Amino acid sequence: MKYISTRGAAPPVSFTQMLLAGLAPDGGLYLPQAYPQLSQDAIADFAGRSYEEVAQAILTPFVAGEIEAGALRGMIEAAYAKFRHKAVAPLTQLDSNLFVLELFHGPTLAFKDLAMQLLAKLIDHVLKARGERATIIGATSGDTGAAAIEAFRGLAQVGVFILYPHGRVSDVQRRQMTTVDAENIHPIAMEGTFDDAQACVKNMFNHSALRDELNLCGVNSINLARILFQMVYYFTSAAVLGGPYRKISFVVPTGNFGDILAGWMAKRLGLPVDRLVIATNSNDILTRAVASGHYVVETVHPTQSPSMDIQVSSNFERLLFETHGRDAGVLCRLMAGLRQSQGFTIEPGPLQAIRAEFDAFCVAEPETTREIARSWRETGFLADPHTAVGLSATRQAKARASTSPLVVLGTAHPAKFPAAIAHATGMLPDLPGPLAGLFERKERFSILPNDQSEIERFIHARAARASNRAAS
Ligand SMILES: *Cc1c(COP(=O)(O)O)cnc(C)c1O
Repeated sequence: MKYISTRGAAPPVSFTQMLLAGLAPDGGLYLPQAYPQLSQDAIADFAGRSYEEVAQAILTPFVAGEIEAGALRGMIEAAYAKFRHKAVAPLTQLDSNLFVLELFHGPTLAFKDLAMQLLAKLIDHVLKARGERATIIGATSGDTGAAAIEAFRGLAQVGVFILYPHGRVSDVQRRQMTTVDAENIHPIAMEGTFDDAQACVKNMFNHSALRDELNLCGVNSINLARILFQMVYYFTSAAVLGGPYRKISFVVPTGNFGDILAGWMAKRLGLPVDRLVIATNSNDILTRAVASGHYVVETVHPTQSPSMDIQVSSNFERLLFETHGRDAGVLCRLMAGLRQSQGFTIEPGPLQAIRAEFDAFCVAEPETTREIARSWRETGFLADPHTAVGLSATRQAKARASTSPLVVLGTAHPAKFPAAIAHATGMLPDLPGPLAGLFERKERFSILPNDQSEIERFIHARAARASNRAAS
């Protein structure tokens, strides 16, 4: 399988090149050159199989010829061994046709673990085979950073630099990043928003001297490998609910459009999906874009679901590329518009194609709070604020008369957001095992201004020190 860039000016690359690069050198995002097709029988056969077996079946065509089957199997087993639920991603039923897919049983209690744990195993494997070092840089609105730090900590050949918006992540999220005692981990509190942090990381990738010298490797959801790994739970959950012989709708709390894009890709592989529902908090650029065709960046509002406090939804570029007939020229024009005037308009044809598959709903803060209280009271399910955005959007989506089962992606454990839970229900969630002792551990992080060159100098100096140590 080869991988191509949405901007059309970078050559197609192999899986391992795509894995290590993250962003394409022309500034675009990688996509598979073609989508392998799974037969209905193959999908039906997933029912009753383990998460690991389904992952192996789905990922094999994407890594064929580069990662040997036995090695892939070993990495998949190791990646999910630390999950606190044997099913990895179990379904919970809330109502006759309503389910929550629990994606929060990994070590950092958010769905990012499902892809990040496997990503770290693969990157480590490839770097060892090549005898290389790499520098992981990522921007986080909270959960990606924690998941990356947990997955990569202690790996000798990678340095990890995570930028998060100073003062805009929850205490639990921050402590999960800043209390890990490993020399290769460098959390950076940046004085800006998540979008500033993401822009800074993108600029570093476009700075080719720095990129080559430090062997920069991106682990944000701009890294396609993560999205490929996230397809797995769409298949496992659909198989349990009677797919492929019954269509399933998925409601996805969305920020950077990565998780829901994985659902769209699962559909391209042959999974019968009815509706894909985009659920946003009051940072509603995607909801506005689907409703009006105008993708226009506004300022970021901090909310109780900080992992979705995003205005520039990077992975939307991938859907735009697909719905514009994979025309890289058009994509370059749209992205130039975004850079110059903070927005662009989607043409009627592609907009129609998007609306044919996606619905989009925005959930305001009071609704999220009400939803946490209501689902706790009515079903005994304690939803974190991100999952609650999904549940609330489901109430709006149901009005669009669909009889297919609705699966809401449960993206985080409520214990990560105790303040929001206490505000909604008057009680504090129990701290599960991985969080025990979190508030006693010592924090370690650097505060840096929202200044590209200062951040680059900092990362350069620390990364150079680590590689000198390794060489001596
Ligand atoms: C990252 C995250 C999201 C949003 O996922 P995207 O792939 O950015 O759309 C939603 N909920 C939680 C808890 C997250 O950590």
